[in-house]
Amino acid sequence: SIRVRFAPSPTGMFHVGGARSALFNWVMAKQSGGTLVLRIEDTDASRNSPEWTEGIIRALAWLGMDGGEYEGPYFQSANADKHTEAAAALREQGRAYYCECTRDQIVERTGDPHRGYDGFCRDRGLEPGPGRALRFRTPDEGETVVVDLLRGKPVFKNSALEDFVVARADGSVTFLLANTVDDMSQGITHVVRGEEHLSNAPKQQLLWEALGGTPPVWAHVPVIVNEKRQKLSKRRDKVALEDYRDEGYLAEAMRNYLMLLGWAPSGDREIVPWDVIVDEFRIDDVNSSPAFFDVKKLRAINGDYIRMLPVEKFVAACLPFLERVPFEVDMAVFDQLAPLAQTRVAVLSEIGQMIDFAFLPEPPFDEQSWKKAMKEPAAQLLADAAEAYRDAEWKADVLKDRLEAVGAAHGLKLGKTQAPVRVAVTGRTVGLPLFESLEILGRERTLERIEAARA
Ligand code: GLU
Repeated sequence: SIRVRFAPSPTGMFHVGGARSALFNWVMAKQSGGTLVLRIEDTDASRNSPEWTEGIIRALAWLGMDGGEYEGPYFQSANADKHTEAAAALREQGRAYYCECTRDQIVERTGDPHRGYDGFCRDRGLEPGPGRALRFRTPDEGETVVVDLLRGKPVFKNSALEDFVVARADGSVTFLLANTVDDMSQGITHVVRGEEHLSNAPKQQLLWEALGGTPPVWAHVPVIVNEKRQKLSKRRDKVALEDYRDEGYLAEAMRNYLMLLGWAPSGDREIVPWDVIVDEFRIDDVNSSPAFFDVKKLRAINGDYIRMLPVEKFVAACLPFLERVPFEVDMAVFDQLAPLAQTRVAVLSEIGQMIDFAFLPEPPFDEQSWKKAMKEPAAQLLADAAEAYRDAEWKADVLKDRLEAVGAAHGLKLGKTQAPVRVAVTGRTVGLPLFESLEILGRERTLERIEAARA
């Protein structure tokens, strides 16, 4: 059975791209009864921190991958002896040689900083020593065929693959070797990872072969881009998975959306239950062209997931967000507002501005909304509404009928008629279903606010 792995480097906030790779691997393992290995690639001591590792594990758990869902975590640093042994074995077999060229010397010789190593030390037979790195000797002839489930069989000419460094002058091994040795020793059969690693695959495949292993099947999943078709970057875009969580995206919505970055379920659907995704996903159906991270679509999907929650779950999901609002929330009132809010909220952090009108002594003042709604004949509409509401039965449908009648007398549709009432009572032009909100707010406060707005 297959063994896949997710191998993040704990050098920063856990990224949505990493999350997508983790999910693809997880789903592959699940649907085939295989195993997902979590390997923390923590060998770059200067950039790692345990805090980032914890963040990765916490974010995976949030998405549904708790410790029971994977083998590990293994830490790359714990495999250091195997890495050094592999480097030594390559040297003994004549597959790697010591090189003392500096970057500047190489560029001076080739005249092109983008060209790879020119093989200067290949046959000098250097012994290990200070300033000497170990380079893998790539074959001069032939081709390396990478079997990639998304890209067919890209062919790399061996003569175009430079002799790359496997161990630095200080003895530390490079990513290419450590990553390969770990995949080998962990029995990995399929490597599913970001497209940015595609150019590493032929080099790594040569290492697998040199070290006596059978190379894995590869799948390099497409790069993720923003609306300007730029690769997502932490400087430009919001990329940290936990920032989405903190803004009020639901884990179920997030993982559904992340699966759509390169893949589509059957039918014309986007919102698909997780077990259907696990059942239908095929790594070889993933598209190799860049995947657009469409925050608008993510918002819409999140809203749909919010609407699918049982109301108690919605209330529970709102609690952490209610703790951050700048007003006191009476939970008895909130429970009444919750079913209304659930129909309107796209991300949970919006909850405060949806419900504040019910808890603040006066509605919030938003100049834009006020300007937009309080145009002729707003004053008259408010006066008539107050009149119509004074003795109305205090029920949403009655309140709606009464206001409709007020509007009709002015030849106005309900939408136009309710705008000034909505702004007078809630402070904003958009918000919860109005008449239900008025019912909850009560006659006294509603009339008080309509009167205040007229003044
Ligand atoms: N640590 C590497 C990264 O995060 C892993 C690449 C791979 O999956 O092979 O980019």
